Amino acid sequence: MKKRGYYGAFGGRYVPETLMGALNELTREYNRLKREREFKERLKKLLEDYAGRPTPLYFSEKISGLCGCSVYLKREDLCHTGAHKINNALGQALVALKLGKKEIIAETGAGQHGVAAATAAALLGIDCRVFMGSKDMERQSENVSRMELLGARIHPVEEGSATLKEAVNAAVRCWSGNPEDIYYLLGSCVGPHPYPMMVRDFQSVIGKEVKMQLKKTPTHLVACVGGGSNSIGLFYPFFKDKIKMTGVEAAGAASLVNGNVGVLHGAKSYILYDRDGQVRNTHSIAPGLDYSAVGPEHAFYKTSGRAEYRKAEDSQALKAFDWMIRNEGIIPALESAHAIAWVMENKWKRDDVVVICLSGRGEKDLPIVRKMKGCGL
Ligand SMILES: *Cc1c(COP(=O)(O)O)cnc(C)c1O
Repeated sequence: MKKRGYYGAFGGRYVPETLMGALNELTREYNRLKREREFKERLKKLLEDYAGRPTPLYFSEKISGLCGCSVYLKREDLCHTGAHKINNALGQALVALKLGKKEIIAETGAGQHGVAAATAAALLGIDCRVFMGSKDMERQSENVSRMELLGARIHPVEEGSATLKEAVNAAVRCWSGNPEDIYYLLGSCVGPHPYPMMVRDFQSVIGKEVKMQLKKTPTHLVACVGGGSNSIGLFYPFFKDKIKMTGVEAAGAASLVNGNVGVLHGAKSYILYDRDGQVRNTHSIAPGLDYSAVGPEHAFYKTSGRAEYRKAEDSQALKAFDWMIRNEGIIPALESAHAIAWVMENKWKRDDVVVICLSGRGEKDLPIVRKMKGCGL
């Protein structure tokens, strides 16, 4: 990263002037905190004793048998609150505390990040408000209840498609109204600098642990890509190693595979547009992948050839979801099932050593799966 906040041609800060002060403050303070011993130790302890790290690296005999190579699962599904999102939520909530902010705000689509943010806020004793599209609130009522139980206030967003894209806009608007008191806790490696860098750093614990746990060097890393945080967390510590990396997007929300370069939510990256040049509404069975853009570091990995990006259909993810439950006794998040599906359908050599990030557990998805099966899938 030569120019500050850029990954090749991507990233940057495309924000209103009113936010530049807050972003500069955050960048300065975060760069200081990440070197501070007390901060690092507090976060490490929380990750270990509270969130359940290190998560196991599990050798899956069944997937290995199916693929004819060695396949490991990085078990982020075993984290507290059920997904990798807690790694970032705890890290940023500690930053908010150190900055002396009075309130944390967060956006959420399906509610997974909202739950992680509300959890971290409850633990650290900070007020929390979550912006959520009213359509998502209807679809994800269980997570709405969880956030409310955790003491968060939910702010329904009615504009546009009333989903994640609008929730982010509303959160940014709220934040720019009072950046002195409010900390904006973003849920993925998207948005203006320093967010993509900070979220990537907090999620890099995933890849760092894999490096320690796996005695040999893997030949392939595979992870699903929504905003891109679990995948960049797995990939980044291996950036300089001679191994292949594959990010798997949902076919109906494949910004890297099908998108164009543009600016959304404060950063230049790959974005899905419709024929009129409007940001397209996406579709995926996996709520965490249902986003029209992607983190700028992935745009850089794509154009530089460091990683490759592929897509999986709803039906392929559902098939992998069923297979995992029947053969491994693990209910994977539908998001993670996209990565597993791609691995199962790819051709492998006997010596290949593949690590898949199992980003979360799938109990949250049972209502969706039930409904899809009712529709004949
Ligand atoms: C949110 C979420 C994702 C997608 O987000 P990334 O930032 O791309 O990691 C993937 N899996 C699970 C379980 C999630 O909750």
